[in-house]
Amino acid sequence: MQTTTIPVATLRDFVAAIFAAAGCEAEEAARIGRYLVSANLAGHDSHGVIRVPRYIHWLQLGYVRAGQRLSMVSEGPSHAIVDGNYGFGQTVAPLAVDLGIARARAQGLAVVGLRHAGHIGRVGDWGERAAAAGLVSLHFVNVAGGELVAPFGGVDRRFSTNPICIAIPDEQGGPLLLLDFATSLVAEGKVLVASQGGKPVPEDALIGPDGSISGDPRQLYGEIAGSHVRDAAQGLGALRTFGAHKGSGIALMCEILAGCLTGGGTSGPVAGGKRGRISNSMLSIYLDPAHLGAVDFVRQARDYAAYMAASRPSEPGGRVLLPGEPEAATRRARERDGVPLSTGTWAAICETAQALGVAAPA
Ligand code: NAD
Repeated sequence: MQTTTIPVATLRDFVAAIFAAAGCEAEEAARIGRYLVSANLAGHDSHGVIRVPRYIHWLQLGYVRAGQRLSMVSEGPSHAIVDGNYGFGQTVAPLAVDLGIARARAQGLAVVGLRHAGHIGRVGDWGERAAAAGLVSLHFVNVAGGELVAPFGGVDRRFSTNPICIAIPDEQGGPLLLLDFATSLVAEGKVLVASQGGKPVPEDALIGPDGSISGDPRQLYGEIAGSHVRDAAQGLGALRTFGAHKGSGIALMCEILAGCLTGGGTSGPVAGGKRGRISNSMLSIYLDPAHLGAVDFVRQARDYAAYMAASRPSEPGGRVLLPGEPEAATRRARERDGVPLSTGTWAAICETAQALGVAAPA
């Protein structure tokens, strides 16, 4: 794969300039740049700056709105249901997390449902935000307005990629453990990356309408030559869930918890076969270990994680990794060396910038 490596600060500033040119206030544009680049730093290129052309497209269509705040739908001492008003996920998700942090600090635990948010990106960012406040958090996410994933035993799309995240804090404001993944065999963004010449997806990631299993991005996007903004309504196939019936079961629960409990809505048939506005909903649970009397929690969690990781390797030279370890290692390397992007991804971002009158960095 041919790549272009961009220094972190240059990439953040470039993305911020694109969103500012598209109509976002400087603060919001910078925040979107920060979180998208954060996903690249974590190694999740699927949720990084590759999203810029699509986010700008959605902004121009009015699917996502600049400058939104949360509207309170219902609240109590240990819960809140909030509406993101289709604001950028990078703006409304941290506001929702902060509500959960404040309530969990006061009550020991809190449940916060966010609905009608623009794409909230890498859910690990929100688990990390809660971990920085010393809280354990669990996040269940779905996508209303679109379907991409077939349930176990079926070929028709019924779910979105429905990620879950569980974050455990350490004592230094970081996550000790960060489990964060899509319930599809790969996140849709990884198919997007593959369709732009990036890392291929596994050979069993997609299923065709005839039940044939492959790693071909055209199952999702149809014929893809010449278009930079991929449209998942064009493909006839679907992503598959991970872990057979188990991943499919978790995906279903994400629809029920994030979609039905927040009021944000579930995945469902796409009107006229054309994907329109999509929105993320997230049901989050925040727990304060100290408040619950688990004063020794972090030490016990660290000791157990170390014991688990000390399991003898299954392959010579290998080792057991902790959830969050690959992301932390990639972050260290990319902060130092810059962010590698496939030339297709970089070209698509530069094309979007040019259309808005923003010059690409030299
Ligand atoms: P993935 O398959 O790379 O799995 C990542 C998780 O597995 C992390 O917790 C990581 O630390 C852990 N992990 C990876 N390799 C490991 C190893 N060898 N040993 C132990 N643990 C290991 O992630 P994914 O499913 O491709 O998801 C990528 C991102 O996409 C996530 O950040 C997710 O939140 C995001 N996403 C967002 C949406 C949305 O609607 N906003 C939808 C889907 C996915």
